[in-house]
Amino acid sequence: METLKTTAEGVISVKTKEVRAFGTAAADKSLQQIKINRRIPTPHDVEIEILYCGVCHSDLHTARNEWHGTVYPCVPGHEIVGKVVSVGKHVSKFKVGDHAAVGCMVDSCRECQYCREDLEQYCEEGNTATYNSPDKHLGTQTYGGYSESVVVDEAYVLRVPENLDLAATAPLLCAGITTYSPLKHWNVGPGKKVGIIGIGGLGHMAVKLAKAMGAEVIVFTTSASKVEDAKRLGADDVVLSKDRDQMQRYAGKLHFILDAVSAQHDVNAYLRQLRVDGVMVLVGAPEHPLPIAAFSLIPQRKTFAGSMIGGIAETQEMLDFCGKHNIVSDIELINIQKINEAYERLLKSDVKYRFVIDMASLKK
Ligand code: NAP
Ligand code: ZN
Ligand code: ZN
Repeated sequence: METLKTTAEGVISVKTKEVRAFGTAAADKSLQQIKINRRIPTPHDVEIEILYCGVCHSDLHTARNEWHGTVYPCVPGHEIVGKVVSVGKHVSKFKVGDHAAVGCMVDSCRECQYCREDLEQYCEEGNTATYNSPDKHLGTQTYGGYSESVVVDEAYVLRVPENLDLAATAPLLCAGITTYSPLKHWNVGPGKKVGIIGIGGLGHMAVKLAKAMGAEVIVFTTSASKVEDAKRLGADDVVLSKDRDQMQRYAGKLHFILDAVSAQHDVNAYLRQLRVDGVMVLVGAPEHPLPIAAFSLIPQRKTFAGSMIGGIAETQEMLDFCGKHNIVSDIELINIQKINEAYERLLKSDVKYRFVIDMASLKK
């Protein structure tokens, strides 16, 4: 099949193939089966049959246009694990039959200072996100992993450690790297008391990773049902954040906090847990602004920062780290037909701890 693309040179034709996907036509519509076009692999491309795709809260924020700027139809999904089914003639990292993974990015400018420093996520031109970004090849927007297959330049495709369960590895591609990157950047390790807020997909990975890095890990959760479970994940202690007395236990004691909450919450209550020079990093991206009191930061020289996913080399480093430490996500495997129900449960913090779609169900 041919798709027409408008470029500076005029209208050009690109060879494409139609594949099945699950997507939404508008912010207030459910996801349903649709057809999308994937390009026929160019010389540096890898074509991947998608076996599993994790369900990130960012998929929901984007499908429902909570961050604005969603272009419809929208096909979410950026925690992709699959099998290579064809490769372009210049591909050297992968061969047909290999397992391969794709995370939150499928391209970037490759020339700016950040791309040259393996920080493609902060590309000056903006990285090409796996979904809802302008597609440089087809002129449409990119479509994510809730689909049969994906075609990605090999420079943005990751290798999967052989010892890890494939379905439970999928969430590492976003939840894993998004938490690994700030934990590494702010030197979390032995001797550090670290708080993790919001034990969903990201938060539960942060607990496992911070523990494997050697830190003392304190979980802050709003869910009573997660208190005991968080210890199983590796937490040294758990604070039920709705309990004012429990919130006193670590006041002024933590070196670092990772905030992975998807909705409105009082960040000042958590900044109070930091010691002098403590750092709190936001990875959760709620729809509305989070007010911060000046005196939550000033008296003890505290830092409030943000962090976005991680670069390609760092994503591979994280996957290899997880392979070495036998770390995967705790998942609930679902059929794609359950995706709308899964979104509703995600909003109620009712998943332990990541939905992963068995993509074979798309063919049912
Ligand atoms: P998730 O699985 O839905 O987890 C979010 C957790 O936040 C919940 O499990 C719950 O934990 C807590 N929570 C939810 N509503 C709350 C409320 N009203 N008050 C207090 N706590 C609440 O989501 P996720 O996939 O881990 O993603 C978390 C956030 O990170 C999302 O906003 C997502 O878009 C963002 N994200 C950012 C990046 C990045 O690059 N920075 C990458 C991926 C995702 P408890 O039950 O323990 O309280
Ligand atoms: Zn994500
Ligand atoms: Zn760049």
